Amino acid sequence: MYAPAERSDFVVIGGVAAGPKTAATLARRLPGATITLFQKETHLSYAACGFPFFASGEVNSFSELVNTSYGIPRDADFFRGTKGFNAVTSAEVTAINRARKTVTVKMLEGGETIEHGYDRLVIATGAVPNSPPMPVPDSERIRPFTRPTDVVAFRELAQRGEVERAVIVGGGFIGVELCEAVSELWGISARLYEKQPQLLPYMLDPEMAEIVKRSLEANGVVVATGADVKEIELSDDGTPVVHVAGEGPVGADYVFLCLGVHPEVRLARACGLAIGETGGISVDDTLATSDPDIYAGGDCIESRHRLTDKPVFMPLGSLANRHGRVIAENLAGNETKFPGVLGAFLLRAFATNVGGVGLSAEAARGAGIQANAVWGAFADRPDYHPGTKKFTAKMVYEEGSRRLLGLQAVGEGDIFRRVDVFSSFLQRGATVEDLYDHEHGYAPPFSEALDPLHHLAGVAAAVDRGQGFVGPGAAGLAAALDDGTVLLDVREGEEAEDDPLPRELADAARRLVVIPLGELRDRLGELDRADRIVVMCRRGPRSYQAALILRDAGFGNVTVAAAGLQALE
Ligand SMILES: Cc1cc2nc3c(=O)[nH]c(=O)nc-3n(C[C@H](O)[C@H](O)[C@H](O)COP(=O)(O)OP(=O)(O)OC[C@H]3O[C@@H](n4cnc5c(N)ncnc54)[C@H](O)[C@@H]3O)c2cc1C
Repeated sequence: MYAPAERSDFVVIGGVAAGPKTAATLARRLPGATITLFQKETHLSYAACGFPFFASGEVNSFSELVNTSYGIPRDADFFRGTKGFNAVTSAEVTAINRARKTVTVKMLEGGETIEHGYDRLVIATGAVPNSPPMPVPDSERIRPFTRPTDVVAFRELAQRGEVERAVIVGGGFIGVELCEAVSELWGISARLYEKQPQLLPYMLDPEMAEIVKRSLEANGVVVATGADVKEIELSDDGTPVVHVAGEGPVGADYVFLCLGVHPEVRLARACGLAIGETGGISVDDTLATSDPDIYAGGDCIESRHRLTDKPVFMPLGSLANRHGRVIAENLAGNETKFPGVLGAFLLRAFATNVGGVGLSAEAARGAGIQANAVWGAFADRPDYHPGTKKFTAKMVYEEGSRRLLGLQAVGEGDIFRRVDVFSSFLQRGATVEDLYDHEHGYAPPFSEALDPLHHLAGVAAAVDRGQGFVGPGAAGLAAALDDGTVLLDVREGEEAEDDPLPRELADAARRLVVIPLGELRDRLGELDRADRIVVMCRRGPRSYQAALILRDAGFGNVTVAAAGLQALE
């Protein structure tokens, strides 16, 4: 039980990721210190990132999201007994009184208010959901998906069979993860509406997001991008009705409002701490705020992007936990710096893995960087290996300096390792050439003798040698094809027959010609040297080889469809 104390050496506000990580590390570094953490909610240190998997039924009980790996609940007793600090739940800090160095705390169960002193304070108040920009009635069936109460409310209704139709408003990472969560176990039909013209805006470039959209649709999700949800109402039986511009009313049993989050800075602002331009608390590289006795970490702060040096808001659990360690080290007197963020992320939508790190091409250009991009379609292991799976990747790098800027990857294959490895390259300011020196572990059950990252470096080198490539999707391939182009398919005859190129591609070109790569040197007469030729194969390498053959034979205008047909599947 919490016995109200008048002061602690350290007070922490917020008890999910950054807060408990700070307090636990601090207790290890300074065992004699008094540390008190106030948490508004009843649960402490729950795994919010696991919510979609509890919603889906993949995680059986909510307690699994709160327990340690050895089955003990991370509650106040655990934090006092094992970690060595006081955690007080249902305790909302309502004010920070910097002059007196106290916080005012409202005990939400008893209703009493106390004042608790600190020497040093840590703010880890997280983020809160953005308010819907459209009229939304108050209903248990229309909620965000950020807090335990949200996820438990949905799971109970789904378990009782009361949800057959779900609408997800917002196609960011939580909205996309929820498509799988609702469909897989419960068989709920899902519709996803995203206002921007693509899913996962700001995370992926449009052609990569297109692959995610196709994967959701292949799993039965109705996805509408560029869709403006105007209003949500309740029907007579209390179920939501969603009004989307240009569409008739859509009935639903549950609506998830996945409209993004913003930093929870009300306490910080009210006590006069500096707030950054993205709305998060301003911190320096030790994570100290504008008051040297107050530190802040997790989703409530503004970060600095390591590649652009610009302020960003990056609400990620991976960062929040690292912030906690850095804050604790600094408070314990071990000067430690937080180096800024790269935005590495991963998510899963059905069997499709999605990940990225660094800048997308759009973000890089938005930041004023001259960015180039290359694509590749890969198998994560040799094709002969039974477990092999595919993925498509896009690498962004700076023109001229060839500094690496970002990687995006989508597909069923092992993208995680590539994202993480690329993240390390970005951290050290590496260039395209450095990727060639990446020494990776190779054995057929895990990888290929040359990694996709080596191949992407190779494609960038081919660009430098003057070879033109186009990316998949509307921005690339469709734009490259017109009634003056010849689309040359260099796959084997059987392949081209069994799996013909999409009709719309063939139709977009003046002429479709199928010549297997091995026959190309002998059948050059079927092509005209004046033609603009776009070469296509399954993954790209055969097209590149074909382009070299054509160039040697005097064809001057040959472009390779990077990532080939695989990226269009
Ligand atoms: C569904 C979902 C899936 C996610 N998946 C991923 C993922 O796969 N990977 C990833 O990296 N990140 C993921 N995240 C993001 C990750 O959960 C957050 O970045 C992380 O929880 C942030 O931790 P935090 O401690 O900064 O803040 P929070 O988790 O927001 O916790 C802050 C706590 O402080 C409390 N609080 C606020 N104000 C007060 C106050 N005045 N007094 C007392 N207490 C207060 C809040 O009630 C809250 O409990 C996901 C988030 C969600 C919602």
